[in-house]
Formats: sequence, C-alpha cells, structure tokens
Amino acid sequence: MPLADQLVREIDDRRDDLIALTQDLLRIPTLNPPGENYRDICEYLARRLGSSGFQVELIRAHGTPGDCEKYPRWNVVARREGTGPGECIHFNSHIDVVDVGLGWTKDPFGGEHSDGKIYGRGACDMKGGLASSIIAAEAFLAVCPDFSGAIEISGTADEESGGFGGVAYLAQKGYFNPERVHHVIIPEPLNKDRICLGHRGVWWAELETFGEIAHGSMPFLGDCAIRHMGAVMDEMERTLFPALAKKRTEMPVVPEGARQSTLNINSIHGGQSEGEADFTGLPSPCVPDSCRMVIDRRFLLEENIEEVQSEFMDILKTVQGQRESFRYDLRELHRVLPTMTERDAPVVRTVARAIAATMGRPAEYVVSPGTYDQKHIDRIGKLKNCIAYGPGILDLAHKPDEYVGVDDMLDSAKVMGLSLIDLLTRARDLDLPAEASK
Ligand SMILES: [Zn+2]
Repeated sequence: MPLADQLVREIDDRRDDLIALTQDLLRIPTLNPPGENYRDICEYLARRLGSSGFQVELIRAHGTPGDCEKYPRWNVVARREGTGPGECIHFNSHIDVVDVGLGWTKDPFGGEHSDGKIYGRGACDMKGGLASSIIAAEAFLAVCPDFSGAIEISGTADEESGGFGGVAYLAQKGYFNPERVHHVIIPEPLNKDRICLGHRGVWWAELETFGEIAHGSMPFLGDCAIRHMGAVMDEMERTLFPALAKKRTEMPVVPEGARQSTLNINSIHGGQSEGEADFTGLPSPCVPDSCRMVIDRRFLLEENIEEVQSEFMDILKTVQGQRESFRYDLRELHRVLPTMTERDAPVVRTVARAIAATMGRPAEYVVSPGTYDQKHIDRIGKLKNCIAYGPGILDLAHKPDEYVGVDDMLDSAKVMGLSLIDLLTRARDLDLPAEASK
C-alpha cells in the first residue's frame, strides 16, 4: 500500500486518541492573562512526546513580560531526529487561551465531546491544532520510522499577549534559526483547506493633547484638551479615513473588509476620571488639561511604517495650523511589520498539495487581518518558510462555546502527515497534483 494511504489509515485509527488528547489539553486551564498552568501543560506535552521518542526541553522565558514566580513563562520544544540527514519541520502551537467571558452553556474547561465536536476555551484557538499536529507526527513515525531530517513540535506561551515569553524568546535563543529549522507550520484555526501566508502590520500609538485646567464655569480662562482632540478626530474623519479606505492590498486578507488599511480608535480618556463604581457624588467642574487617545493602525505590505507614521503626523500638523494653543505628545506603543510568505515557498507548495489530496479541492490562500507568532519567526528567526495551517473555524476563536470538529482535526492531521511524507522521505509517492492553487 502506498505510504500516503497507510498514513491516512493510521490517522483514522487514532480518532479516539485524538479526542482524548484534545480533552486533556482543554482540561488544563492556561488562561492568559495572567498565564496560568503553563508548567503543567508543558509537562503533559513532554510526557506525551517523550514517550513517542522525542527529545524534550522545557524552557522558561525568564524576565519576559509577565514572567514571575507565580506565573512563570514555560515553553516546551520536542525534537525527534530521523535516521539520516535532511530538513526539519517544526509545528508551533501556542498553549495559552484567552479569558472565558460570559455566555457559555458548556464547561469551558470540561472538554465535553458531543455531536462530533469538542468544546472548551482554546478548542479551536488552538489546542485542537496542537493535538492534530501531535497525532500527525505520531502516525507518520509509525509508517515511516526511517525518515531523514527531523520533526519538532513546540508548545509556546503568551501568543495572545504578543508572544514575548514564547516564540519571540525562543527565536532569540536560536530555536527558529534557518540552520536548525527549515519549514514551520503554525496550526492556528484558519480552516482545514486554507493556507495562511502571513498577516498585516500593526502600529499602535498614544496621542496626548494638552490644555490648561480652570474652573468649568469659566472655560475661557483655561484651554480644553478634549476640544483639541476633537479637532484631531474631525481631521481624521475628513482626510485620513477616506485615504485609508482607498489603500487596497494585493495580500489575500480575509475577511475581505480587511483588504485595505484600517485604523481603530481603541480608547479615549480626557479630563477627570469617572468615580469608583459605588461613588454616588458629582464630579467637580474643571476644564480638562489632558486627553489621551490610543490608535491601532493596521497596514499593508505595500506601505512602510515611516509612511504610516508621517501620514498621522500630517493630521497633527494640519490641526496645529488651525489652533494656536495646540500642543501634543505622540508615543509609539507597539509595532509589527507585515509579513507574507511567497506562494512558491517549499512549505506552501507541499501543504497545498496535501490539502488538494485530502480535501479533493484546491487550497485557498489567505492572509490574517491580525498578527500571530509568525512575526517573530520572520523578524527574529529570519525564517521565511513559515505558514499558519490548522483545523477550526477562525470565527469561533475567543467566543463562548468555542469548539473544534473532530473530523476537521482528522483532516488537518492528514494534511500535516502527508506534508511530513512529502518533505522527509525519499518516497515522495504522494499521488498529488503538482499545482493546486486558487
Ligand atoms: Zn491563536
């Protein structure tokens, strides 16, 4: 029987194992913030992968944001060497999950399995993907014990809060060096027939406008910082938002609405803060002397960050020309450059063929509107041959009653396993169409 058929059968035989593994992962609540139980889930993964012949390392990201004795930032990296030299395929999954929120009808940490779905916080984002990659690797090892190269599986901290105690830290320590790792698949929930090539860029900044405090009954004796901010917002409405809407990208971003530059106003705070929740008194009359606004600008491969910044500075200059006492401070909070792996990169071509063989239809190529850990693998690791591919419906991520479908996990595991055959064996007997694109 061809290797590909043997592999598919091995994965189907592991259905119960896949369900149990996913449930076990969901029952370890790895909420971030604050970053709970990272050590427990890393030890669980170390036991599992250790018994499948992987060399396992537990790595704490000392001194990274949030790392402390109560909430240490633990990561696990497991590597299984083949019997000959070759390339290394790395599956990277984040182990953290976001806050549960309201509206659940299932136990968010119960791992309930019903109607072919497994429920829980992190089921789709992304413990289901992590479980699929483990099953894929174990099934591959059963049918191809004599492969060349290496397989790595990592479980990393803090993706939901920027990945600094996870992939960024490991990349700084050389774990994503192109001499050690050649292909990276991040099993984020992008749907089982889509390859995510990368993401848009991010620029967060805080603008503060200044005024002068005075009695609220005589505002002409002061200078209102909120009115200055209002003028900035007027100018943004008049010129910036229409300009952003016109900047379209060739990146295949989904959803379609994100195929352009966008800007969100995350927050505005001006004047005195509102009282405590149980405070029943009245505020005192003051002209506000400070107003702060946080903006979240998402930009395209076709733009550069200097352009993005100067476009915003132009707004401020215009307002300055119109308002004599306008004073401000602009601080950058966070930046991520956009990234997009080429469609003819080796990992993209292999996974596209494996999707076509498994699903019987061509792979779809997408780009994420928001960022994920690929940014660190690209920028710090200097490794370009990286994609996100995994089971689960993106829209369910971070929502109540999040789930992952068992059949979807099995199909994704097959795609990952076939990709291992394609990249790590001489056989290359995947009877796959050479070109599969849409
Ligand atoms: Zn995720």
